[in-house]
Amino acid sequence: MAYVINDECISCGACEPECPVSCISEGDGKYEINADECIECGACADACPVNAPNPA
Ligand code: SF4
Ligand code: SF4
Repeated sequence: MAYVINDECISCGACEPECPVSCISEGDGKYEINADECIECGACADACPVNAPNPA
């Protein structure tokens, strides 16, 4: 289990510095979460203006 960023992502970058385990990075057209490192804290969802990160 991990959070996943959906296609609503506008690549604003607000979530990246909020992740305590630094598992968010800029991908192709949107930001991505490394599922192997995500601890499901929800900080990225709280920081996101478009609710793109959600629990998978
Ligand atoms: Fe990082 Fe927490 Fe978001 Fe997982 S849920 S990507 S650990 S901020
Ligand atoms: Fe994408 Fe939301 Fe992260 Fe911004 S905060 S890069 S819109 S997932």
